Amino acid sequence: MAHINDNYLKLQAGYLFPEIGRRVQQFAAANPDARLIRLGIGDVTRPLAPAVVEAFHAGIDDLARRESFHGYGPEHGYQWLSEVIIEKAYKPLGVELKAAEVFISDGSKCDTANILDIFALDNKIAICDPVYPVYIDTNVMIGRSGEADSRGYYEGITYLPMTAENNFTPALPVEKVDIIYLCYPNNPTGTVATREQLQVWVDYAVANESIILFDAAYEAFIRQPGIPHSIYEIPGAKNCAIEFRSFSKTAGFTGVRCGLTIVPEELGARTFGGEKIALNQLWNRRQGTKFNGVSYPVQKAAAAVYSDEGWTQITATIDYYLHNARLIREGLTAAGITCFGGENSPYIWLKTPEEMASWDFFDKLLSECHVVGTPGSGFGPSGEGYFRLSAFGDVEDVKEAVKRLRDRWGC
Ligand SMILES: *Cc1c(COP(=O)(O)O)cnc(C)c1O
Repeated sequence: MAHINDNYLKLQAGYLFPEIGRRVQQFAAANPDARLIRLGIGDVTRPLAPAVVEAFHAGIDDLARRESFHGYGPEHGYQWLSEVIIEKAYKPLGVELKAAEVFISDGSKCDTANILDIFALDNKIAICDPVYPVYIDTNVMIGRSGEADSRGYYEGITYLPMTAENNFTPALPVEKVDIIYLCYPNNPTGTVATREQLQVWVDYAVANESIILFDAAYEAFIRQPGIPHSIYEIPGAKNCAIEFRSFSKTAGFTGVRCGLTIVPEELGARTFGGEKIALNQLWNRRQGTKFNGVSYPVQKAAAAVYSDEGWTQITATIDYYLHNARLIREGLTAAGITCFGGENSPYIWLKTPEEMASWDFFDKLLSECHVVGTPGSGFGPSGEGYFRLSAFGDVEDVKEAVKRLRDRWGC
């Protein structure tokens, strides 16, 4: 008889987005004339940049001709894409990388999940709370946790609360941990980390031989000078950190699929016998065996993001989202609602008015303002009392949503 991986049964049902969908559908059915505005989504809405579309088409045309046809590419991506990323995305930050340290993939959700393949099950994991749910669920799936308790905390995982009380700067864990997930600019809180704050984590990781898994999916939204775009801007990070990046939010590739993972050659972890092994070698072996590369036209499209034209166009789109974020932040702040994030991020994390529970605020916002957002408690127990609004919408919808909130809660 075949047996399942019963770790999957420990997962709390994919509760958040289905529950939002259920409540929205129920409301819409009962109120067919209400014009709903959806600011709950973590997905882009603007089309691909024209320079990217052109390169994407040209990539397909190459496949249509015998002399420029491409079959399987390198599992870790084409060197011309790795090189343009090193040149345009890392060199300007003062970060030197080799092409062998860049692994092109079909997105960073998969990479942040798959990276667990190369680490032993006995590693102690630290995860921020609230958090992007993928980090927790993938650790539960491979068997690194016990059951979840009544508040939603899994046994065996170290949670790092990230709230207004600690200024969204999680404290170092009390008990020693081996792997630490960090995401900046952060989803869901929209907050960023300074150089000094990241240095504390790098120093901790180097001293304890821990590994930082740094998710920089939103780095292109950083506008404040001095905020690091890469963990490798921090001295010592190449000895302790793996970085994940994605074209999804940077260039609207959520439906196209392309990301990258950096594993520096000097980065290592130990065997149970104490020998240090290069993680680059293990990840290369893992990808070579389980992955067959990103499609050629997609990599052509990704490279076009870094052309002068492409970069100007994707920057204009990010600026559009950041303008939406500013309208939400400033409008709600003027209405007396406490907002965080939204300056270097497409997400506004707000404190619910009148200390409402996250789901109560969700229901009120839906029934009274016809606006849909995401309850903070869905991202982890420390998200209770908070709420996430996304700036990935149409500017006219954003203005209307802000007006409705101000009419309801403003003084
Ligand atoms: C959107 C997002 C990603 C990107 O995932 P892809 O698989 O590259 O689309 C990664 N991390 C976080 C925190 C995100 O919100």
